[in-house]
Amino acid sequence: MSHLEIKNLHVSIEDKEILKGLSLTIKQGEIHAIMGPNGTGKSTLAYTLMGHPNYTVTEGEILFKGKNLLELEPDERSREGVFLAFQYPVAIPGVTVANFLRSAINSRRRAENPEDKGMPIPEFRKLLKEKMDMLKMDHNFAGRYLNDGFSGGEKKRAEILQMATLKPEIAILDETDSGLDIDALRVVSDGVNALAGPELGVLVITHYQRLLNYIKPHFVHVLLDGRIVESGGPELALHLEEHGYEWVREKHEETV
Ligand code: ADP
Ligand code: MG
Repeated sequence: MSHLEIKNLHVSIEDKEILKGLSLTIKQGEIHAIMGPNGTGKSTLAYTLMGHPNYTVTEGEILFKGKNLLELEPDERSREGVFLAFQYPVAIPGVTVANFLRSAINSRRRAENPEDKGMPIPEFRKLLKEKMDMLKMDHNFAGRYLNDGFSGGEKKRAEILQMATLKPEIAILDETDSGLDIDALRVVSDGVNALAGPELGVLVITHYQRLLNYIKPHFVHVLLDGRIVESGGPELALHLEEHGYEWVREKHEETV
């Protein structure tokens, strides 16, 4: 059972405290959604999980399968089975989606065994075909240059395909960017729904309630001012859609 355990996490950017004691546990097989108004620290959480150097953890810990995630470099986190959707947002001229995925798989294999010669091409082709079929993607997509002129939806398609081929144990998706049009929304939600299962834990970070009409989270959390102030089931997302965040803020202010 692989758990992601975030305990009393405090994170600062340039001496300004953004996360102020965030705690959250995600088990394999669970889909969690973190929602919240703009500026409450959602992306800060995603960047901290990724290991971005601008985000300083001042207190608390993050454990993955009992290991201290904060001591691992971003690529080591990935090898341990943590997937972050926005790890490679740049266009890479001359590198196709297929080549990119193959080198990601091979670098992980080599990290596990320095003698590894890489996944044989027929095996890789079979894996890629199987995953593209599962995600209902056109096979031509694998021959496109990564992120070169990609639409929002195509960028998401590449990310979801990467997630499918790397088979992470925990996937963290920060879906706050304004480029999330209806096509991208569908790609992300169909992908998560296709890949979800007992082996995968998912954390979807979003300010888009709409995304949760397509992905059915088991747990919904509200992030406000650097802390999770409300947790519940899928009904919480519906309630937020109808009533906004003001009631959460009022309830929270009464208790502090
Ligand atoms: P969210 O994703 O919930 O909208 P963020 O985590 O992006 O929120 O930002 C949380 C707070 O941190 C905001 O007040 C924002 O202004 C501040 N912030 C984010 N990035 C930086 C930065 N690079 N330097 C200084 N402050 C930042
Ligand atoms: Mg954000």
